[in-house]
Amino acid sequence: MNPVFAALPTTVFETMSRLARAHDAVNLGQGFPDDPGPADVRERGARALIDGWNQYPPMMGLPALREAVAAHYARHQSLTLDPDTEVMVTSGATEALAGALLALIEPGDEVVLFAPMYDAYLPLVQRAGGVPRIVSLQPPFFRLDEAALAAAFGPRTRAVVLNNPLNPSATLFAADDLALLAGYCTRFDVTAICDEVWEHVVFDGARHQPLMALPGMRERTVKIGSAGKIFSLTGWKVGFVMADARLMRVLAKAHQFLTFTTPPNLQDAVAYGLAKPDPWFDAMRAGYAASRDRLDAGLRDLGFRVLPAQATWFLNIDITGLGYADDVAFCEALVTRHGVAAIPVSAFYPDGSVRSLVRLCFAKADATLDTALERMRGLA
Ligand code: PMP
Ligand code: GLN
Repeated sequence: MNPVFAALPTTVFETMSRLARAHDAVNLGQGFPDDPGPADVRERGARALIDGWNQYPPMMGLPALREAVAAHYARHQSLTLDPDTEVMVTSGATEALAGALLALIEPGDEVVLFAPMYDAYLPLVQRAGGVPRIVSLQPPFFRLDEAALAAAFGPRTRAVVLNNPLNPSATLFAADDLALLAGYCTRFDVTAICDEVWEHVVFDGARHQPLMALPGMRERTVKIGSAGKIFSLTGWKVGFVMADARLMRVLAKAHQFLTFTTPPNLQDAVAYGLAKPDPWFDAMRAGYAASRDRLDAGLRDLGFRVLPAQATWFLNIDITGLGYADDVAFCEALVTRHGVAAIPVSAFYPDGSVRSLVRLCFAKADATLDTALERMRGLA
């Protein structure tokens, strides 16, 4: 048995969803929306399943989807991607991340990771034989720190994994933070694996800036996206990877032996959905911003300290001074005694440096959020 995986606990998302079911709790833990996703995209997927092609699609993805992905990023992020050589479809961002780390890391290579980090990153880096160098970003702003980057990067650094917008902090990296990181990547000849699954779920007029667009980064960035987040269809697991053709050739080798392909009907529906006009994306963001504002205002009224949420489906409360040993103790009490499931943010800090934040998912119907708020009354 491999010791890295044998020693792993069950992921916090599964654990909290199980506790939520057991305690009949409102589940604001695992990030999935109440919104069923756009009806036309779902109908297109159903139609393609009934009428269409249900055999293996091409390994790199349906040509129509690869073209739609390239057109989509040209329109939204001014990126120029060759759909034949620089775009690949994966079974979710998770496969793309696993494949990128397996394909790019050799045992002993150092990989710079930023905490808070999505819980898949560290075990995947370790399983690939990489040596993690963790840079811990601190609330409330989660800014990159030049001194910390200088300490983390060195001659053995092969890759950096950046999640922007950042789950769970719900922050966007500032332009100067991205420029700083790009400078380190180019200086140390490092590949950046950019998990940008939340790129469209950005609020208050802010725009996502892909690291790939920064000077010197086009040839050294693996950009990862997910239709699950764009269309509120988390169970679909349709992801996409964008990279320079030289990197893509190696990424494709990992993909061919991980999943090889992704259901063609879902690919067809995502290709259709990516062409939606700009107002659709604006309306999607406005809907989630309204839910964020509802939960934010409700939590503040109850006396909680709420961190600003610029992006994603999450906001965080600081539980310092509420009388709990840490975020895990708070979340245990919240789900078992009060019937609300949340995520302790320490699960994203493998260095243990932050244990006072709790993440709540606001991508829920108003009535669900109101019930959760009612159950949280008296806790702050
Ligand atoms: N990365 C981040 C930062 C995420 O938040 C998630 C899921 N919420 C994923 C990757 C996984 O995406 P997918 O479901 O497309 O595999
Ligand atoms: N990414 C989702 C979240 O942050 C959960 C995905 C999962 O359950 N692994 O909540």
